[in-house]
Amino acid sequence: MDAIAATNWQDRAARLQFRTQAFIDGAYVPAASGKSFDNISPRDGKVLTQVAECDAEDVNRAVSAARRTFESGVWRDQHPRARKAVLLKLARLMEEHADELALLETLDMGKPIRDSRSIDIPLSIRCVQYYAEAIDKLYDQVGPSGPDAMSLILREPLGVIGVVVPWNFPLMMAVWKVAPALATGNSVVLKPAEQSPLTAIRLGELAVEAGVPPGVLNVVPGFGETAGQAIGRHMDVDMLAFTGSTEVGKYFMRYSGESNLKRVSLECGGKTPHIIMPDAADLDKAAANAAGGIFFNQGEVCNAGSRLLVHESIKDEFLEKVIHHSRRWTPGDPLDPTTNMGAMVDARQHERVLSYIGKGKAEGASLRLGGSAARADTGGYYIEPTLFDGVDSSMTIAREEIFGPVLSTLTFKTTEEAFKIANDTIYGLASAIWTRDISTAMKAARTIKAGSVWINCFDAGDITTPFGGFKQSGFGRDKSLHALEKYTDLKSVWIDLS
Ligand code: NAP
Ligand code: MG
Repeated sequence: MDAIAATNWQDRAARLQFRTQAFIDGAYVPAASGKSFDNISPRDGKVLTQVAECDAEDVNRAVSAARRTFESGVWRDQHPRARKAVLLKLARLMEEHADELALLETLDMGKPIRDSRSIDIPLSIRCVQYYAEAIDKLYDQVGPSGPDAMSLILREPLGVIGVVVPWNFPLMMAVWKVAPALATGNSVVLKPAEQSPLTAIRLGELAVEAGVPPGVLNVVPGFGETAGQAIGRHMDVDMLAFTGSTEVGKYFMRYSGESNLKRVSLECGGKTPHIIMPDAADLDKAAANAAGGIFFNQGEVCNAGSRLLVHESIKDEFLEKVIHHSRRWTPGDPLDPTTNMGAMVDARQHERVLSYIGKGKAEGASLRLGGSAARADTGGYYIEPTLFDGVDSSMTIAREEIFGPVLSTLTFKTTEEAFKIANDTIYGLASAIWTRDISTAMKAARTIKAGSVWINCFDAGDITTPFGGFKQSGFGRDKSLHALEKYTDLKSVWIDLS
């Protein structure tokens, strides 16, 4: 039996201690206003704990700690090897506390413990390791000048980075930004989503324990309207790295324009097309991926394969297979290690997803599976895996990001039509195609406007490949060495040798 299955997570959850204050300048502090808000666990709808409700005043304190530490050079001027050692130690501490972090994530946002323990936390650790190991392997450039000059092209950290993240992969979304920002020598102010602040709050403390100087990483839990907006509009924040909805991404562009023109990078929503060609080598595998691609993490995935585009000649046969695989996905107690689908993050998201299901029915799509709330007796926010057939591109469920376990099936006759439907969206985060034909696959890779194209797989990649969007899915990339570009600026130095 593996370690995840052997652990009694319910017992451990009952004994868990929560850190619930802001982490500013290396210490836990209450919100300046003294206010706190209820943190509800979607597992049972009960209040888990109270969390400090930071607002503009706390953001000011956090930004000034970040500014002070950046200007003092206490972090950015350390030898690259020294900063590498600190971030590697942070990764080790996260590993030592992996069960605790996984439990916090599961209780806070409702995902299965199996996933938080085997996906969220290990991938977050790997991300920190990756950027730690990069620190002493990055070179600046010498430009191609003539013999009478030497030009240096230097990369410098930007200064104070604001990070605002969502609740679907709380720790992972945070470290995708915090790790490369710290690796390049910046100081950070991190605002986690109101639904899922607990792992971010703990990360601040672990970072200081690892040797990140106090004030370099600050965490301000609170609401988007107040704390998030205060970071977005702050005159002393140099760059804002955001993951979340396209709607809020647009706010951050406005905040920047109305304040200090801080750089903004946005990882926003998606409506991923998942194309099944009739010549796919293994339709059964494709069907398993079609189900997993939308039901994993309760469908609360920015790149979830929410639009299934199936060639009309195989649609009925293929949908039977998808339904078969979908039955493996069952909402259950997130703390049960056999559960593969947890609760929706909160009552509002639960309601929102159910209302999209209602719209799907009202607009004439045919419901083939699920469609209802589940496990209502628990008090938690569960929804059945849901599958619609007979969807067309004009329907709301094909156009808007649902962010829940709802799959819409559309059909096409020709490859060109498939690509046209795939691109008929404001989003461009990811896409996938199953085919044996190399030229169809390559044409998809060239034609589909999306930051990722998966061929004969779904949601593949790792920390070495950039991730991010085209179109209204945002701009700027997380992961890989390319992410480092966002947190640095180029400086040209010209030395006259004549
Ligand atoms: P969201 O509502 O946009 O919130 C994201 C963050 O922005 C939260 O911390 C939120 O704070 C904050 N925020 C909300 N309103 C704000 C405002 N007026 N000013 C400043 N900040 C504000 O998104 P979500 O519902 O948490 O997450 C789901 C979305 O994230 C989906 O659209 C999904 O596609 C996207 N996402 C994208 C990626 C990617 O890599 N492209 C990855 C994961 C998720 P509070 O929640 O505390 O109010
Ligand atoms: Mg919560």
